[in-house]
Amino acid sequence: MKNSAIAERMSLIDSSGIRKVFALASKLKNPINLSIGQPHFDVPQEIKKAAIDSIQNGLNKYTLTQGIHELREKIKAQQKEKNISLEEIMITSGVSGGLMLAFMCLVNPGDEVVVFDPYFVMYKHLIRVMGGIPVFVDTYPSFNIPVDKVEQAISKKTKIIVINSPCNPTGAVYSKDQLKDLADIAKKHNILIISDEIYNEFIYEEDSVSIAEIHENTLVLNGFSKTYAMTGWRLGWAGGPKWLLDEMIKLQQYTFVCAPSIVQYSGLKAMDYNVSLLIDSYKEKRDLMYNGLKDYFEILKPEGAFYMFVKVPHGLNDEEFAAKAIEKNLLIIPGSVFSERNTHFRICYAAENKVLYKGIEILRNL
Ligand code: PLP
Repeated sequence: MKNSAIAERMSLIDSSGIRKVFALASKLKNPINLSIGQPHFDVPQEIKKAAIDSIQNGLNKYTLTQGIHELREKIKAQQKEKNISLEEIMITSGVSGGLMLAFMCLVNPGDEVVVFDPYFVMYKHLIRVMGGIPVFVDTYPSFNIPVDKVEQAISKKTKIIVINSPCNPTGAVYSKDQLKDLADIAKKHNILIISDEIYNEFIYEEDSVSIAEIHENTLVLNGFSKTYAMTGWRLGWAGGPKWLLDEMIKLQQYTFVCAPSIVQYSGLKAMDYNVSLLIDSYKEKRDLMYNGLKDYFEILKPEGAFYMFVKVPHGLNDEEFAAKAIEKNLLIIPGSVFSERNTHFRICYAAENKVLYKGIEILRNL
């Protein structure tokens, strides 16, 4: 029974889907774990050293709420090289921190936010806890942007369209043409786009394009968690129109205060680190997993991130299939954690190749 002291808004969200998986997983001793959404490598040595040096050099105090000047300028310059001019930038406590600030500053009760299904699960819950209404646009089976459906999903109450390319959980990467079509719709209806680009280094085919190159009214969210395996360090950034960033900075002042100081200084070092070899090894993992499963499952070859979203075979639903996998000591996540449908499951292939081989073997036998 919930304590009556808990605010009503908390009943708008739940964590039952993921919790079920963790409850089942806790029974396993040494599972083949293809469920965790983070890189399997450790933070590169140079970046660790930068963090240690920052501590030793006394960079341990509060920073400016919007983040240290050097890091903001470095991000601004990096974006400019990609033809993206961001009016204002702030440093956040991960992309999660940026998402929370953005939704809190933008969403009034009853506002609608278009979210592509399958989606990163945080969007749905954050929108709901603000009293907003996530309007899901189904992207099955191609996981591309279905332009007609987006038009149909827009109403007078639509305030934001959220996109995530490369996508968690599908690995889909939106092409420039798709993004142009989406930007046209957003312009026509004067809608802000929130573009979560946290996987933008994990691209295996063509170069990534940011919708911010095309659509000015965009809030870009990005971070260091995935590219440099710094998931526990909590560093991200938000960039976009000044009218929005000013409000987000104001709110950060009274919530997070600032992103961790030593991590901000380490971020400067991280941005000089070349991840291309790591990305090459992730492309190999993508190929290994895809080639191992494609003759056994209905599966689209993902072009980015480190996930595959695979159709559950033989008329089972996603939870039944995940339970069967767990019986064989394999951890995967039922698709309904990321979707209004229950027909798929998510694999994360950010793991040692020997783990991937074992996972493929178990999945084939299933
Ligand atoms: N956005 C997406 C699409 C993610 O997959 C994740 C983490 O899994 C996040 C945001 C959160 O990232 P951060 O660690 O920067 O808060």
